[in-house]
Amino acid sequence: MESKKVSKIGVLTSGGDAPGMNAAIRAVIRTSIYHGLEAFGIMRGYSGMIDDDIFKMESRSVANIIQRGGTILKTARSKEFLEYEGRKKAYENLKKRGIDGLVIIGGDGSFKGAQKFSNEFDIPCIGLPGTIDKDIAGSDFTIGFDTAVNTAVEAIDKIRDTADAHDRLFIVEVMGRDAGYIALHSGIATGAENILIPETKTDIEDLIESLTEKERRQKLVNLVVVAEGDEFGGGNEIAAIIKRRIPSADTRVCILGHIQRGGSPTCLDRLIASRMGFHAVECLINGKHNVMVGIVNNKMHYTPLDNAVKAKQKIPEDWFRIAKILAS
Ligand code: ATP
Repeated sequence: MESKKVSKIGVLTSGGDAPGMNAAIRAVIRTSIYHGLEAFGIMRGYSGMIDDDIFKMESRSVANIIQRGGTILKTARSKEFLEYEGRKKAYENLKKRGIDGLVIIGGDGSFKGAQKFSNEFDIPCIGLPGTIDKDIAGSDFTIGFDTAVNTAVEAIDKIRDTADAHDRLFIVEVMGRDAGYIALHSGIATGAENILIPETKTDIEDLIESLTEKERRQKLVNLVVVAEGDEFGGGNEIAAIIKRRIPSADTRVCILGHIQRGGSPTCLDRLIASRMGFHAVECLINGKHNVMVGIVNNKMHYTPLDNAVKAKQKIPEDWFRIAKILAS
């Protein structure tokens, strides 16, 4: 694409919030200002673009936010943006302010919106992967995953203490939508006996056999970490099956839920968000348009938005073996 010079950049957060989004906003605003560009914040994702909830930001507007979870720009899901009319309205609002470049921090749904928008109108878009689910291909990291998985680890460690005191079987459900990364990583890191994720077929007979065998060996503390997107359902569904099949097991369920989204971002999330935000602005300036900025093997990696919305991040095979062998 022959690119014209970008002079005014808008930034928004869209879809589910993720810790580290504020660090990314800060990086976009400050890098834009460093390069002499004007920077605008857009409230509530694509909804703010449509409702004209857009304001100029300065370097001080993003002071004291790098350590905060959530997003100062708020986030939303916008039905109107799914329609051409909504996107046109959004375009007109940007146009009247002269905004000629966009940075979208969100998940693959947000990138689908960005892809359509940049195909229809003359505003280049850069996507930053902001999701706790780590379900986007083209980056080893997504903003928010490290914080979410560390929150899950901290919680599961606490659950193990009480499970140990009572010889209980705990089923812990973690987030991730249809991806199993939070479950796999938090499960391995906490020594969970079983990890159930959507990327692998959940073999209930195998699970029952492994729990029964552990009972025989008097291994009484058992942790099963279940991804919310597992094909058998979440923690409650798995617990119901186990209670039916092993009535003697003292079983409890804990659904970690939204605590995994909140909280102060880890150092890693702050760093990748800062790095990605910085490079998003450089992309707009250098004419590398309509890409998602990722990091692969510690180097910046740019995926065309078209591809970013299609591919899911695959879990390397060895993780499955590690999880199985170390849990025995
Ligand atoms: P998360 O992974 O955290 O849920 P996400 O970015 O995938 O984040 P979505 O709700 O899927 O979250 O998408 C966010 C917004 O992006 C939607 O509310 C909608 O406004 C826009 N969007 C999603 N898909 C499309 C599409 N096909 N066309 C236009 N806009 C879209």
